[in-house]
Amino acid sequence: MRMPFHEFWVHPFCGVLVLIFGACLGSFFNLCITRIPKNISIIFPSSHCDCGQPIPFYRNIPIISWLLLGGKAHCCGRRLEFQYLGLELLTAVLFLWLWKQSNPWEFLIYGTFFGLLIIASGIDFAMMMIPDRCTIGGAILGVLGSIILSHFSKGNYIFLGGLASIRAMLLGSSILLWIAIFAELWLKKEAIGFGDVKLMGCIGAFIGTKGAIFSIFGGTCLGIVTLLPLWYLCNRKKSKMALGSSIPFGPFLALGAISYLLLFKHAVDEYCAQIEILLS
Ligand SMILES: [Zn+2]
Repeated sequence: MRMPFHEFWVHPFCGVLVLIFGACLGSFFNLCITRIPKNISIIFPSSHCDCGQPIPFYRNIPIISWLLLGGKAHCCGRRLEFQYLGLELLTAVLFLWLWKQSNPWEFLIYGTFFGLLIIASGIDFAMMMIPDRCTIGGAILGVLGSIILSHFSKGNYIFLGGLASIRAMLLGSSILLWIAIFAELWLKKEAIGFGDVKLMGCIGAFIGTKGAIFSIFGGTCLGIVTLLPLWYLCNRKKSKMALGSSIPFGPFLALGAISYLLLFKHAVDEYCAQIEILLS
């Protein structure tokens, strides 16, 4: 008996497939994070160890291989970073979560968005920069994605979706640009990089005005909550990461955007609707 696609989409078996797919994507994101800053193609050569040996596909199975090998390369015994396992697990869980609350189109477009955010965050952590491919390229994909989504959701016109997306892209990046300018005047050094401003444009293009504003303030709050205890501990230990050292901001913006989509979108929509009623 054949199952129609919309029934298959919500079937638990589809969830298992999404989990496996997410883990494989996480493995691919790891590769992008290591290769894009070095300007190496993300397609060729195929995966290889730091010692130069190629990794056969059966030792490159996401999550399982890392656990079976005990976090050590088979060819030379080098330690495999925990980042590899962590990112595969994280991506699998995020994609499963997204699948639970999306139709196939939303899953495709927001899944692309999550991928861009994960790669941008990983590179920002490692190199303190975000490549234009993720930010500017992402903004273009965001506008296209919004056009597709507004085409498939009822009662919305294609050009309105695209227009709203471009408006949110400009608004999100200009709010962060103003914050960056004032922060620089106040601290007398660069506090927020231009890469973050461009990343904010990409976030706005994908999740709209409310999502962009939520990501900036939510991301900032998350940043403060995470970093204050860290700074306190490091200052007490007189460690290198003292107050005033550089911290990448991109991952916090990304966290704000992802938590908006997965957790807060409905609450923000309801809140805004109530304010509109009060004002009318
Ligand atoms: Zn090796």
